Amino acid sequence: MNGLRTLRSALRGPVLLDGDPGFDAARRPWNRAVGQPVAAVARPVDADDAAAAVRHARSTGLTLAAQASGHGATGDVDGVVLLRTGALDGLSVDPVARTARVGAGVSWGRVQAAAAEHGLTGLAGSSPVVSVTGYTLGGGLSWFGRAHGWAADSVLAFEVVDADGVRSRVTADSDPDLFWALRGGGGDVALVTEVEFRLHPAPELYGGRMLWPIDRAPEVVDAFRRVTAAAPDRLTVWLDLLRPPGRPACAAVLAAHLGPAAEARALLRPFDAVSGRLSDDRRALSPADLGAVGAEPTAPGAGVSRGVPLTGLDDAAAVLLAEGPPAPLLRAQVRHLGGALAGPSDTPYGPLAAPYGLHLLGVPAGPGSAAAVRAAQAAVVRGLGPAAAGRTPPTWLGPGESAADAYAPEALDRLRALKRSRDPRGVFRGNFPLFGRPATGPAARAAVPVRA
Ligand SMILES: Cc1cc2nc3c(=O)[nH]c(=O)nc-3n(C[C@H](O)[C@H](O)[C@H](O)COP(=O)(O)OP(=O)(O)OC[C@H]3O[C@@H](n4cnc5c(N)ncnc54)[C@H](O)[C@@H]3O)c2cc1C
Repeated sequence: MNGLRTLRSALRGPVLLDGDPGFDAARRPWNRAVGQPVAAVARPVDADDAAAAVRHARSTGLTLAAQASGHGATGDVDGVVLLRTGALDGLSVDPVARTARVGAGVSWGRVQAAAAEHGLTGLAGSSPVVSVTGYTLGGGLSWFGRAHGWAADSVLAFEVVDADGVRSRVTADSDPDLFWALRGGGGDVALVTEVEFRLHPAPELYGGRMLWPIDRAPEVVDAFRRVTAAAPDRLTVWLDLLRPPGRPACAAVLAAHLGPAAEARALLRPFDAVSGRLSDDRRALSPADLGAVGAEPTAPGAGVSRGVPLTGLDDAAAVLLAEGPPAPLLRAQVRHLGGALAGPSDTPYGPLAAPYGLHLLGVPAGPGSAAAVRAAQAAVVRGLGPAAAGRTPPTWLGPGESAADAYAPEALDRLRALKRSRDPRGVFRGNFPLFGRPATGPAARAAVPVRA
């Protein structure tokens, strides 16, 4: 294709084409379970260079898929140009205005370290190596979502490059439609070069991880239900049921509390009554420590995950979860949602009413084993019955799912109308294209009319 041959001369940053040394390493995403059959990898050196790449794509018919790290890679990138945003690494914190501005390549760990110096926090999720931009474009479910809502609700502005290659600053006033779409509608409509967002006070933070052998799981799950039913919005507790390869299965509880240690310990007291605890590293935390609470891998690796909102945790669900994740799953994690997440939100997903979310993770051991992981995930979701219903939060979508699994029909129509008007030639390709495949998840099944 002509545009590929001339791509190198359009950018100041490096461009690798299929066959070039280093091409395979350059196209590999963080999630090694996903292959990326792209035609080229381009690394713009700054926002102007990114805009030049967009103008080149527009005039030659190429499609661009922006990626900071590839945490959210789906493999739906056949023949496109992968735009790696790592060089857009600017970061500044204004402690007086309590805001941060970060480039598209910046990950949460750096932001949290900078914010913590001023007793502030961003609405980071569980991983310090996920990019702020990719996460926020999916709404962003944070440790502090119960207190402050979607991360996208704290956004003040986006610096973008539109499908004509023109740079602009997008705010609620300057371009309400695009501002709405970017706060959770994905990366299918514009290229984001920088995000500016509010930081939140975190003068005191307490939390950490407690661990029990799996045979204590029924009591741990029971305590989890009691603690989460009474928790104030400043406390978030996650339940982690783990089956690590070659090691005994265990049940863990992760907690983060935006407040004093004594208050947190009192709220978490039901867990102290569960005997046999193997470890407990709860302590005063800095927002910079949050990425370590979940003990998630920070190095690239293979993972097949599936996330579903849960309408509740009834006795049957509690019994199912207490058995631990069925092999070959590694982890079944129940995240406590609710609070501000369920409140008003003028974003593409809107309010997240489900009080819990379930995240199922497996590591495929070789070719074909991804199918076994998916089958085990589907069996757990089926076992939960009507409790596992509703639209999947956009950042929890996985390969094989689609934008239609995340957004209500009116929101999807509005996003699609915007895609038609702002990117009619399809210059941009998000990981979940707005005109991609139909819904496949629990929401789709729930929408199937039942015959009387
Ligand atoms: C270990 C792990 C922990 C996680 N924890 C959480 C969590 O706690 N809460 C949560 O909500 N999510 C979580 N996620 C999901 C994560 O937020 C999504 O996968 C997110 O899309 C990752 O963003 P990224 O930029 O790091 O990944 P990438 O794969 O690089 O980007 C994902 C997508 O975002 C879009 N995008 C990225 N950059 C741009 C840009 N500059 N312009 C336009 N579009 C762009 C593209 O569509 C891209 O395909 C987690 C994922 C992993 C692997």
